Amino acid sequence: MGKKVKDLEMVAYLDNNSTTRMADEVFQEVRKYQLEFYGNPNSPHGFGMKSWEAIEKARTKVAKILNTKSDEIFFTSCATESINIAIRGVVFRNLEKGGKIIISNVEHKAVLETVRSLSKFGFTVVGIPVDERCVFDLNALEKNLDDDVILVSLMHVNNEVGTVEPIEEAVRIIRERTKALIHIDGAQSIGKLHVDLGKLDVDLFSFSAHKFHGPKGMGVLFKRRGVVIETFMTGGGQEKNLRSGTQNVPGIVGTAVALELVASQMDEDHERMENLRTKLLNGLKELYDDLLLITPIENSVVNTLSVSFKGLNAGILMNLMSEMGVFFSTGSACSGRKKSHVLKAMGFDDETILGSVRLSLSRYTAEDEIDNALDRFNRALNLLRN
Ligand code: PLP
Repeated sequence: MGKKVKDLEMVAYLDNNSTTRMADEVFQEVRKYQLEFYGNPNSPHGFGMKSWEAIEKARTKVAKILNTKSDEIFFTSCATESINIAIRGVVFRNLEKGGKIIISNVEHKAVLETVRSLSKFGFTVVGIPVDERCVFDLNALEKNLDDDVILVSLMHVNNEVGTVEPIEEAVRIIRERTKALIHIDGAQSIGKLHVDLGKLDVDLFSFSAHKFHGPKGMGVLFKRRGVVIETFMTGGGQEKNLRSGTQNVPGIVGTAVALELVASQMDEDHERMENLRTKLLNGLKELYDDLLLITPIENSVVNTLSVSFKGLNAGILMNLMSEMGVFFSTGSACSGRKKSHVLKAMGFDDETILGSVRLSLSRYTAEDEIDNALDRFNRALNLLRN
C-alpha cells in the first residue's frame, strides 16, 4: 500500500535523482547532533570540542571511503555551492590572465550558469558536444585543449539520462595537453558508483549528500592538496578559510553515515535496482508501443531510466500520475518545465523531448512501487488515449 503524504497518497517515488529519503541511520545521528551535542564546533570549550571532534571524525570517514586525505575534504551546503567555490575559485585566481574554460554541453545548471556568469570577466567558455548516448566527444575535447585553458569542468554521471561519462579517459587527455585544473561534478555519481579519488587524477570534485540518503543542505568539495584557489566566502575562516560560516554539524555527521551506508551496500543495492529498472522498462514497453528508450542502459547508472512517450506531452502525463501518487520528473527537476538541453544535445527531436520522462530509483525503492507505477501508467495512458 501507499504512504500518506499529507492529503495525497504516494504509491511510488521515482524521483531519486532529484532527491532521496533520508536513511533512518542518518536521521538518528542528525537528531543526536541537533538535540544533544549542539555546541558550536568553533567554540574553544568542551561542548564545542565535542562538535569539532564529530566534524573531524566525519571528515576522516568521508576521506577514507573516497580514498583520499581528510585535509582534502571540505564541507559546504550543497553541490551547487561546492561547484561555485571550485569554478569561481579557479577563475578568480586567474582574473588578470584570463583564458578558456571547457565544459560539456550537458552539464547541470549549477555549472552552466556559473560559467556563464563568469564570461563577463573576459573568459571564453567552450562546450564539448555529446553523442546520442550522451557520452562526451573526446576528440572535440582534445581539439580544444591548449595553453589558454585554465579549467575543465565535467560531470561524472548525467542527471537526466544516467550516462556514465568517460572521466578517466578525459582526465588522461587533459593532463597530456594542458596544465588546466580539472573539476568534476559528481553529484550523481557519489553513492551510485565506487569513486576512488586517490586514483582519479582530478583537482576538484563536488557532490551533495541528499542524493544518497543524506541530509539536505549538505555538500562536499574535494580539493587536492597543493591546489590553490581564491575564496569568496570570507568570515570566520572555517573549513581552512575556504568556506567561512559555522559548520552544519548534524549535516556533516549525517553525510558521513549516509556515504558509509551506500558505499558498503552498493553492489547488492545495484543488483536490486537493476532488476527493478528492467521490470519497469519492460512494463512500459508493453503499455506503450512507441516508447523510446533514451538511457544508454549498458553505459549508465542502474537507478536511472529515461524514456520518451513519443506523441504525448510528458508534462500532462506527469501531472496525471502525480494525482495518482506516482512522482517522477520530466527532464531535470532543477530546470523545471523547460525543454531539456541534455536531450537536445543528444540529438533528439522536439517530439521526443516533449514526451520524455526521467524515472529514478533508490536503494529503498520497493518492487510494489514499480507494480503501482506500471498500474497507474496504464490508467493514465488510457485516459490520454481517450
Ligand atoms: N550537479 C548535478 C549533476 C545534479 O544532478 C545536481 C542536482 O540535481 C546538482 C549538480 C546540484 O545539486 P544541489 O541542488 O544539491 O546543489
